[in-house]
Amino acid sequence: MSAPRLPGAPFVQYRGEELFVEDVRLADLAREHGTPLFVYSRNAMLAALGAYQRGFAGRKAKICYAMKANSSLAILQVFARAGCGFDIVSGGELERVLAAGARGEDIIFSGVGKSRREMRRALEVGIHCFNVESEAELEVLSEVAVDLGTRAPVSLRVNPDVNPLTHPYISTGLKGNKFGIAHKDALRAYQRAAALPGLRVVGIDCHIGSQITQVLPYLDAMDRILDLVTQIEEAGIPIEHIDFGGGLGIVYNDEQPPAADALWQRLFQRLDARGFGGRQLMIEPGRSLVGNAGLCVAEVLYLKPGEQKNFCIIDAAMNDLPRPAMYEAFHQIVPLARPTAQSQVYDVVGPVCESGDWIGRERSLAVQAGDLLAVLSAGAYCMSMASNYNTRGRAAEVLVDGAQVHVVREREDVADQLRKEHLLP
Ligand SMILES: *Cc1c(COP(=O)(O)O)cnc(C)c1O
Repeated sequence: MSAPRLPGAPFVQYRGEELFVEDVRLADLAREHGTPLFVYSRNAMLAALGAYQRGFAGRKAKICYAMKANSSLAILQVFARAGCGFDIVSGGELERVLAAGARGEDIIFSGVGKSRREMRRALEVGIHCFNVESEAELEVLSEVAVDLGTRAPVSLRVNPDVNPLTHPYISTGLKGNKFGIAHKDALRAYQRAAALPGLRVVGIDCHIGSQITQVLPYLDAMDRILDLVTQIEEAGIPIEHIDFGGGLGIVYNDEQPPAADALWQRLFQRLDARGFGGRQLMIEPGRSLVGNAGLCVAEVLYLKPGEQKNFCIIDAAMNDLPRPAMYEAFHQIVPLARPTAQSQVYDVVGPVCESGDWIGRERSLAVQAGDLLAVLSAGAYCMSMASNYNTRGRAAEVLVDGAQVHVVREREDVADQLRKEHLLP
């Protein structure tokens, strides 16, 4: 039987009849560490980063990993050691990434609702830039910086109003969306920023959405942003860097996103043609750096045949893998050992008491209770969105590097969950 190419290959692949991550047999990991278990390939992450680094070779560009995709300390450490910067969206993420070894100057701070306390802390550690999302936020940030006797470096996140051709819940660059400053208001906002005593304008930023699988939305956004840069600079406000955000999609099923280096080859053609090829650039990729570097191993608890549907109930649920419930997202689900028996069609669901707790619909599987499955492409927006719903402890995480295995997060137990709670007297 010829092996289908799995998302995550060659770092995730069958050897003989068994599924491996790098040189480690997943069944061994499940036996030793239990399930559900997130498994990440360090070399898959570095390969994903490498595609961007190739795309930017010889250019002035900084890659800032959007850490909300997966903020586990060891993941951050891999990227910090590889020379990445980081895009954060909260004060909690700031502390996390500092704990993982990042320096203030490698950090940019995005998000629509930064608090004064978060701003103050970010200024104290000397972050590279605040991506500001409203005129009201400009005023507050200026006040906080003046209080500290400093000036905050700012980029304005501009909403280029292009359609990223992705799921509505993960598109962010259209009018009528809470993110960014409207394109038509951007010049005025820059003039306001330049006049405020606590701010220093350093750049411009956009981020149009997520799981983008086409080049065109990026080219459209780029054109809109470059037009603005020209206008803003004509108004006497220099723009040191241009940040094109993140959003590049990955293969979950049969998508065909461009490779990061191919995407950037196309984008540099446009930048060069418009005379911006020598500018300092930034990007904020999240999903495309980690999504296919991780998977979640789960055990089949019960098979429940039904009149209309057969259910395959596994021990991972929407609290571990929230994307299907949140976005109707698709993850491939494959057995850890290639099956010999006949397959049947199942809805793969978790034990959580919600009809929304499904992981995959109408999947053809040859399984029995006790078998192990891998939910693929689970490196991004899974563990970082995991919850304790139904008082389920969050899963353990291991990082594989060749034949080496590092436990990077222990399984959460009930005592961990009850620790901050108090009974009434
Ligand atoms: C979420 C986010 C990203 C990363 O998006 P991906 O689709 O994971 O690449 C980048 N920038 C901002 C501002 C974000 O909110």
